[in-house]
Amino acid sequence: MKLINGKEISKSIKDEIKAEVEALKAAGKRLPKLVVVLVGDNQASQVYVRNKERGCQYTGMLSEIIRRDNNCTQEELLKIIDDLNHDDHVDGILVQLPLPKQIDEQAIIEAIDPTKDVDGFHPRNIAKLFLNEEGLVPCTPAGMMAMLDAIGYDLDGKEVCVVGRSNIVGKPVSLLALARNATVTIAHSHTKDLPKVTSRADVLIAAIGQPKFFTKEYIKEGAVVLDVGMDRDENNKLCGDVDFEDVKDKCHAITPVPGGVGPMTIALLLKNTMKAYKMRG
Ligand code: NDP
Repeated sequence: MKLINGKEISKSIKDEIKAEVEALKAAGKRLPKLVVVLVGDNQASQVYVRNKERGCQYTGMLSEIIRRDNNCTQEELLKIIDDLNHDDHVDGILVQLPLPKQIDEQAIIEAIDPTKDVDGFHPRNIAKLFLNEEGLVPCTPAGMMAMLDAIGYDLDGKEVCVVGRSNIVGKPVSLLALARNATVTIAHSHTKDLPKVTSRADVLIAAIGQPKFFTKEYIKEGAVVLDVGMDRDENNKLCGDVDFEDVKDKCHAITPVPGGVGPMTIALLLKNTMKAYKMRG
């Protein structure tokens, strides 16, 4: 069994970006800048935002966090986004989700300039993904493709089963796998006989948010398993959707949790920020 080390792979992506930033600095050019907007006091969001800021610092990119409390109105947030959209020094805008309930998340996502939408959630970027055109791709799905690249795994002609159909993970990763000529099955909570469906897959992408759900009867012998889940087990310890200990000897390769898909998401966010910077010229 091969362990797909997200920490190492993400570090090599961040090191490439760092080198690009250093070259820009040496040439006296403007540096890429990511602005993260954090509304409210969601604990998990605080951690994610801190990690994103650390990622920027590592690469030498500029970063700023704009914080607002739980009472922030939609109008206030739209004004912040409008200002960032028009700020020539800002390349990437990320509004950390979830937002307080008085704010319509979709309206906020749609207000972000698609060329600065480094989360890749704007309908225009989703359309580009659908049409197989160059755009800003959601970070977690793009991170999974980068992991497959890092282990030299070609999806062409392979059976991929994605379990989970969310807009931020399941659907976009399915489109990316399809674009790489995989035969893609998308399973979800209404899928009948899930083990029968998943155990056909050469690559299983687990994105359901249920701790240690996938045991060995769900896995094909020699499969590649990408575990997106960030769950808590019975001891409140971070774990994935896959029961790692149960399946590891049956897999060809598997991502651990923590240290798998998670770190890739930040690396791809930084990569998207660099891409947005380059697209803006
Ligand atoms: P959502 O809750 O939005 O979607 C979960 C999906 O899983 C739904 O499509 C649901 O089906 C399906 N599902 C739930 N239970 C089952 C089941 N028992 N059998 C089959 N399908 C099921 O989750 P997200 O996509 O946002 O996140 C999924 C996981 O990935 C979470 O653990 C989350 O924390 C993690 N995550 C990790 C990231 C990272 O950077 N590593 C980034 C984003 C998410 P239905 O549509 O029918 O309800």
